[in-house]
Amino acid sequence: MAQNETPIILDETEQKIINIIDAHRDQIIDFAKDIYTHAELGYKEFRTAEKFANFMKDLGLPIKEHLAVTGVKAYLNEEKKDNVSLALIGELDALRIPEHKYANPETQGAHCCGHHAQLAGVIGAAIALTNPEVKEKLDGQVVLFAVPAEEYGEIEFKNKLTAEGKIKYGGGKCELIRIGAFDDIDLDIVHHIGDKDISVGSNSNNGFVSKVIRYKGVAAHAAGAPHLGVNALNAASLGLSALAYQRETFRDNDHVRIHPIITKGGNLVNVVPDEVVIETLVRAANKDAIADAAAKTDRAFRSGAYAIGAQCQITTMPGYLPALSAEANEEVLTAAQIASQSSKKDYEVVKQDTTAHSGGSTDVGDVQHIQPVLTFNTGGKVSGLHSVDFDIVDDELAYIVTAKIFALSAYRLLKNGAAKAKEVIENYHPIFTKDTYIQYMDSFISESTDL
Ligand SMILES: [Zn+2]
Ligand SMILES: [Zn+2]
Repeated sequence: MAQNETPIILDETEQKIINIIDAHRDQIIDFAKDIYTHAELGYKEFRTAEKFANFMKDLGLPIKEHLAVTGVKAYLNEEKKDNVSLALIGELDALRIPEHKYANPETQGAHCCGHHAQLAGVIGAAIALTNPEVKEKLDGQVVLFAVPAEEYGEIEFKNKLTAEGKIKYGGGKCELIRIGAFDDIDLDIVHHIGDKDISVGSNSNNGFVSKVIRYKGVAAHAAGAPHLGVNALNAASLGLSALAYQRETFRDNDHVRIHPIITKGGNLVNVVPDEVVIETLVRAANKDAIADAAAKTDRAFRSGAYAIGAQCQITTMPGYLPALSAEANEEVLTAAQIASQSSKKDYEVVKQDTTAHSGGSTDVGDVQHIQPVLTFNTGGKVSGLHSVDFDIVDDELAYIVTAKIFALSAYRLLKNGAAKAKEVIENYHPIFTKDTYIQYMDSFISESTDL
């Protein structure tokens, strides 16, 4: 709290929530650090999910596991679910950044997006909300929800899971929507590590589709008989160049980002490469721009194959919808101010700049299209998200304040007949139903072989 602000007077339950979370400070931080040093990648977060599930079982909560491979839901106040059902969401997955100092050697994963702080916040909130006197004041269900695969990497692995029938969509929340795991939830609160001390509300983000481009050529002796080969790497190089030449056709306002990597470049240096694989995301700020950029991407990659006489197969999968900007919710904002003033340090609470736009993407945007989502960020990090130097340097802010904001927001939304939660739900206008969302997502699925 800033020096010149009037402190908010806490009611008995709010004080109890603060006291409980402070009393369990070490336990929450230990949980966070354990997840931080055992990072796992999307749809492979088995240890992380089990740890979250066991924590919820130890609190005496009924759980559902293995939702979209690794998702876990724990239920508090099941008897009040018909009034309002509020989910507190934490993401399970990490990034592959093997050089990070806390990278998990088994998975090469590192929590450089800080998702472990979300989980620490959710379990910390669960400790407070399961207290019988606190729970009694909640006039609604709280779902403690650990969700898989927010980072959209390893596209070929995800496509393999799809082929095996284990998932249909690459994004964890997208898949959870599809299988109905959001059907018993009315509104959600999500958190992310951010640049400011504490911010409430969200800016808009790009959406995207994913593509795997597979060039097939013909192997031959690279020095002795290259004339007998068809060089798939040359085709891929031309495709990448053709893609780069599309840039001037993208409008600034559409925030188009296309960023391919080569995941397979050849087999042996003295053999003409007969198979080259490229993965890319095609991102933009709106659905039309995504479709336009996706068509240009296909055209560019096909052109490389055409020039060389190779074959080019493009597999397209739906990614995420563009995330919407959202004003700070008053209850979450007050919860943030209380969490700040109850901390030893002077953390600044601000409303997120809703006019800003991020070129990144999140599947939180998909949930936003079917039900209301309230968002907040806490700081406590150094360096940028997804960077090798990312680290948490303020446990209090990243973990403890996060837990307090989750718990206090849930209480403030659900007290007094869940009046404030109902207000949010009544004022929300869905863009998709679950069914129309699935239709939209499925419209992107395609596999083409040209030449
Ligand atoms: Zn991330
Ligand atoms: Zn993230």
